Amino acid sequence: MQPTVLMKKELLDATGLNEFPTSQEFLNQVTKELIIKANNKSIILNQSAPTFDVDEQKGETKPTQEQVDYRQKLLDSLHDLYDDAKKTIYNNALTADDKISEIDNSVQTFINDTQGLVKNTVQTRYQDGYDSMNGYLTKAKVNPPIQANEQPRLQSILRQQLQNLEDIGLIIRGRLRQKVDMNDIQSYYHFKAPKKLKQAQSDYTPCMKQQHQLHPDWTEAELESYCEEDDSSTDNVFNNAQDNLDQLGMFGWLESFMAGYLVAGLLATALISNLTILLPWLTCQDNGNCTRNGPCEDCEDMAAGGPYPIDNFPPSTLHDLCQCNDPPGAPIITFG
Ligand SMILES: [Zn+2]
Repeated sequence: MQPTVLMKKELLDATGLNEFPTSQEFLNQVTKELIIKANNKSIILNQSAPTFDVDEQKGETKPTQEQVDYRQKLLDSLHDLYDDAKKTIYNNALTADDKISEIDNSVQTFINDTQGLVKNTVQTRYQDGYDSMNGYLTKAKVNPPIQANEQPRLQSILRQQLQNLEDIGLIIRGRLRQKVDMNDIQSYYHFKAPKKLKQAQSDYTPCMKQQHQLHPDWTEAELESYCEEDDSSTDNVFNNAQDNLDQLGMFGWLESFMAGYLVAGLLATALISNLTILLPWLTCQDNGNCTRNGPCEDCEDMAAGGPYPIDNFPPSTLHDLCQCNDPPGAPIITFG
């Protein structure tokens, strides 16, 4: 089957690129959400230490093990940053300048590591989605058109994901810098109590014992100053980061696959005359992977309204944490 039309206007419209928010709007939105979340969290969570565990109950759909593993890798990077930061802040041998430069490096490492992982994963998932749709086309005896080098819809998701990771890192960096800076300013006031003689481990406070287990490489002085400090505000920032990072991983995982799936189908319908593709909307109930209460009313309405022409398929983020169409339904392909 040879392409008969070079490009349809509907194809561009269906990519949704013209509807994507500008990055400034996006940043404002992210900032607003972070502030709301930070305010809520401080009341609800009572500023407990972050767990760095994937929240499998986050959405309405139980994530696949693959998705959980991916999100856990992101949270592991955050955990590394948390440990590095604590180690730096409570290292009495470092000057404030040294601490800031260590913190900046650790945050940059976190941003680079997570961006590398997310970029790879989103690209792979997008291509998997693309290949999955082409597989259905081939099965229906339609020759899929050649995939273009440029994939604007993939770039759109990558921009959102990579910028969001940078924002998460920089919010943490701001909080950690402020902590070091304020400690430094206050250090000029402090009356320094003479150091106690080295304690036996049995003399450690419960906090010191616990931290010693978590951080066997910390010195006694570091354990002591860690346990003397009220660290809840730093933990709070990491709690919010954990929440946002986990959600970012979940959204990118689903959206990239769906985007590739849709783009492959859209390209085929744009280039091949007499080809139509309809897509059902599948809730977690349809897919048999609901977490708690099943799909919300909005999602059930979307399912009832389907199947949709592929160039008019509704966006997957109707509401916060919607995880419908994981995996997407088989397309209904009509040809000739
Ligand atoms: Zn949903």
